[in-house]
Amino acid sequence: MDKMDLWKKALSLRKELGEDATSPIDIFALAYTIDKLSIVYYPMGSNLSGICIKGAGNNVIAINSSMTLGRQRFSMAHELYHLYFDDDGLTAVCAKTIGVGSEREKQADQFASYLLMPPDALSDMVKRLKKSDSGKLTLRDVVRLEQYFGVSRQTILYRLIGENELTIQEADSMRQNVIWSAVNLGYDDTLYRPTPEDKQYKTYGYYIQQADKALEQGLISSGKYDELLLSAFRSDLVYGEESEGGELLD
Ligand SMILES: [Zn+2]
Repeated sequence: MDKMDLWKKALSLRKELGEDATSPIDIFALAYTIDKLSIVYYPMGSNLSGICIKGAGNNVIAINSSMTLGRQRFSMAHELYHLYFDDDGLTAVCAKTIGVGSEREKQADQFASYLLMPPDALSDMVKRLKKSDSGKLTLRDVVRLEQYFGVSRQTILYRLIGENELTIQEADSMRQNVIWSAVNLGYDDTLYRPTPEDKQYKTYGYYIQQADKALEQGLISSGKYDELLLSAFRSDLVYGEESEGGELLD
């Protein structure tokens, strides 16, 4: 696997999406800015992390929303590899476990890791943390890293093993009590939780824009529009969302 090439690809996508080379990124906010991309969230069970389907000017990325937020961020970064750089096929169905499967899947995982955790940014931070901890990464440091870059424990451990910053044994000792280890250090636990069950089904982006446009131009009836939105898990757009006290501007 050509890691340098994958980092170059990650860097070029960062630039294309208006990001610098080192900062942590809001991968979902960036994905929403991509033209002609529909993003679907739904629970896919315990084996799949995401799906990418490329069509002529109409692309879909689906994310398994029953996985933790940290993992969903990695899944989105992984699917962006398929969308932008993978010429092996129009559809990619991606497994849950990181770093296994076909060459194409491994490349997408490495790309995702670089996109979310740029090599320079990660090594700078690791150096600083090690200095203040007698030359070794501790559990506290690992929590700090995963919180800073917004990734799951599995994701950060996989990367740190790959960078020879942790042994497999050291990493294994950090796989238990993930939420407790972070909360205990004063962090919020959102990164380690799946999307709340009542919000796991949702569609955003191009699909919604297209349905709206078709209705506006009289190409579809309002009944058909409702049907399209309901099948995209957007009953909130059909029936309105109950909001207490109205909306806030700030
Ligand atoms: Zn994949």
